[in-house]
Amino acid sequence: MIAPARAHRPGVEREGSEPDPGDVAGCPFCEGRESATPPETFALGPPGRPADAPGWRVRVVPNKFPAFGPWSDAGNRTTGLFARRAALGRQEVVIHSPRHIRTLADLSVRELEQVAEAWRARAAAAREQGFPYMQALVNEGHAAGASLQHTHSQLVWLPDEPPLVAQERRSQEEQGGCVLCRVLAEEVEQRIRVVAERDGLILLCPFAGRQPYELLVAPRECESDPFTSSLLGPGLALVAEGLRRLRVAEGSVPVNMWLHASGHWHLEVLPRLTILAGLELGAGYFVNTLAPESAAGVLRES
Ligand SMILES: [Zn+2]
Ligand SMILES: [Zn+2]
Ligand SMILES: [Zn+2]
Repeated sequence: MIAPARAHRPGVEREGSEPDPGDVAGCPFCEGRESATPPETFALGPPGRPADAPGWRVRVVPNKFPAFGPWSDAGNRTTGLFARRAALGRQEVVIHSPRHIRTLADLSVRELEQVAEAWRARAAAAREQGFPYMQALVNEGHAAGASLQHTHSQLVWLPDEPPLVAQERRSQEEQGGCVLCRVLAEEVEQRIRVVAERDGLILLCPFAGRQPYELLVAPRECESDPFTSSLLGPGLALVAEGLRRLRVAEGSVPVNMWLHASGHWHLEVLPRLTILAGLELGAGYFVNTLAPESAAGVLRES
């Protein structure tokens, strides 16, 4: 539901863009505090750098509070209607920069390319160890679920596609062809919701987006594996550009972003400008107070 009349302004949640000093002081992700995290599983840095020492550019560590883990599946059982299954997987955190930067929007193209390289390397490791699907995501801001402000992403190694990804793939199959390819072709022709197009990628506000300034980044040509694609880094750079444009328009806002690495891969960005409430949770109607066509116009000008 696109309902602009409900909004005075789309924004409700605001967070300052300047770090408060206290959060830098105790930050376990800053360079020099390597001992505050579990031992690293991967890092990009100069050759010969010892593990868990300064000098890295991107650093990957296990998530200290994982929901998915190498749990025993001894408890898997079905009691009447109720099936239990161990949440098998692994969770890692990718620290995007040794400096205390708070948002993807402030990383350089080169730094984002290194983030993509880390995602790629960990996806390959996950596949080798029997986890064919890796969910990569970024939460920024407390209202979007981030507990630490230093820019980072989370990787979840999974034995199967998660439910939403499987659902997207099934609806693709039912349509008998790639829906996203058709959508992108039409968006490029209509030019109403496209914000930017470069490096073989498109940034747009999807038709009937759920929330103000929802964004989608996808390669123009159909490709299904982001982790072997040279477009993953440029894709993250286009997300960062979208976030910078959003910041010009609305100030710093909490954001969730994730990669769908199946079918025609794409990055989805959901700024958390409104709170999901009874209509969304109870009826499945998402009330968007800013038409995607207007949002794209604002972002093009920003
Ligand atoms: Zn930090
Ligand atoms: Zn496609
Ligand atoms: Zn998707």
